[in-house]
Amino acid sequence: MPVAIYPGSFDPLTNGHLSLIQRGLQMFDRLIVAIAVNPKKTPLFTLEERRELIREACPEERVEVDAFQGLLVDYAKQRRVNVLLRGLRAVSDFEYEFQLANMNRKLAPGIETVFMMTGEDYFYISSQLVREVASLGGDVAGLVPDNVLAKLQAKFARKP
Ligand code: ADP
Repeated sequence: MPVAIYPGSFDPLTNGHLSLIQRGLQMFDRLIVAIAVNPKKTPLFTLEERRELIREACPEERVEVDAFQGLLVDYAKQRRVNVLLRGLRAVSDFEYEFQLANMNRKLAPGIETVFMMTGEDYFYISSQLVREVASLGGDVAGLVPDNVLAKLQAKFARKP
């Protein structure tokens, strides 16, 4: 299959996302990692920071990093891509992802969502948990790529 869009907030990129990207690259010729911009939310990392962190952690030419606002299906149509890649961690993800995939299919019947699971080492990792643990001074080494770890440590460094 030629191209898929892997959308998400990536605030920040975790090893769970990376595992999905690596698996996705075995199935698709190219992946567009699409950062969802939500003007109503204040992310921990700016769009530019998120973009750069993903770019550094995924130097493969077959990975493109982009951003979009508004409906994912509109973005997919604009990019002329009809496959969306999403990850499933646990049963808890299923309900939301099921709703989302069906809503997207209703909005754009030609666009399919493909689900992949991460390796068992990564299934419990979420960006939100990583942000919370890092903000409280917990060690998130091994859960995020090294460049993200360094950025998190810089952001939450204790002021003397
Ligand atoms: P969102 O804010 O839309 O949930 P995320 O950036 O958190 O976006 O995640 C993007 C996609 O990657 C989602 O489909 C999510 O289920 C999946 N994902 C995130 N972390 C993991 C993980 N550790 N294992 C598998 N899938 C994951």
